[in-house]
Amino acid sequence: MTQTQKPAPRISSGPFEHFLKGWAVNLMADPGQSAHWFSRGGADAARALCSQDAPVRWLYGPGNYGRCQNCIKVMKRRIERGPPL
Ligand SMILES: [Zn+2]
Repeated sequence: MTQTQKPAPRISSGPFEHFLKGWAVNLMADPGQSAHWFSRGGADAARALCSQDAPVRWLYGPGNYGRCQNCIKVMKRRIERGPPL
């Protein structure tokens, strides 16, 4: 079966209720962005593996946004190094 590949529309899956860590999109940043691996660092602050900071209330589910290549690289390096102490 052959199908023409169209780029999928970028759709977020909506706001997180209790975000701790995971792939997320900062919808308040530029619209052409991708999803980053954020982990919550404080009451209202999250930081991505690629060192991007965002308030937790700005983070939305990644939906079908593409994943940030920098976050993937950092994640691979961490996996190679072994689990954190
Ligand atoms: Zn990133």
